[in-house]
Order: sequence, then C-alpha cells, then structure tokens
Amino acid sequence: MANERDDVFEALWAERARQDEQWGGFVHDDYHTGPDWARFIERFVNLAYEREMVEPEWYDAMLKATVLGVAALEAHARTYGLPEPCSQCGGRGTFSYMTSQGRIDVDCIDCDGPTR
Ligand SMILES: [Zn+2]
Repeated sequence: MANERDDVFEALWAERARQDEQWGGFVHDDYHTGPDWARFIERFVNLAYEREMVEPEWYDAMLKATVLGVAALEAHARTYGLPEPCSQCGGRGTFSYMTSQGRIDVDCIDCDGPTR
C-alpha cells in the first residue's frame, strides 16, 4: 500500500535541503523576522491560489510554502526553544522566551493558561 505521507515528507525534506543549499541554512534563516517568514509563505500561497491542483505550479508553490513553514519553525526553535506541554490542558503548551529584556512567559496556545 502506498504511503502518501511518507512520500510527501520525503519531498518536503528534499526541498528543505535544496532551500538550505540555496540560501545557506540557519545562518541565513535566523536573520529573518516573524513577518518576513509570513511574507515568504504568503508569496507561494498566493501563487497556489492562481493554479489548479493538476498544474505542477500549484504543487511546487504548496511544497515551497510548507517547507518555508518548517524552516520558520526551526528558526523559532533555535531562537526561542520549543513549547513546554501545558500542565492544565495537555495541549501544545506554553513558551518561555529569554529576550534582552529578560524572560517572557506566554500562556498556552490551546487553553490560554497557565503562565508559570
Ligand atoms: Zn493549555
């Protein structure tokens, strides 16, 4: 039985490696701001809006938008770490950011509670 998810992830990782080769990897990626990443992804999503799924341009645009999302989350993880599981809802969790102004605790993105 075909496993589409494995095939898609394989295509994503190949595109992710291609983008790292093209742009220089984390040294380049970590320079971008949150709005930068959103604009990069938006550009490819807008290209996909103009195409049908049967067109290769749609596939390419969706692949690049998805991989840019992965790259953005990788850059976020390097800079700010990963969320800690929420003790209240078991959801995706809370963030603690160390910034030049000190530590910032952010409520759970699923239930809005609790900041430590
Ligand atoms: Zn929660």
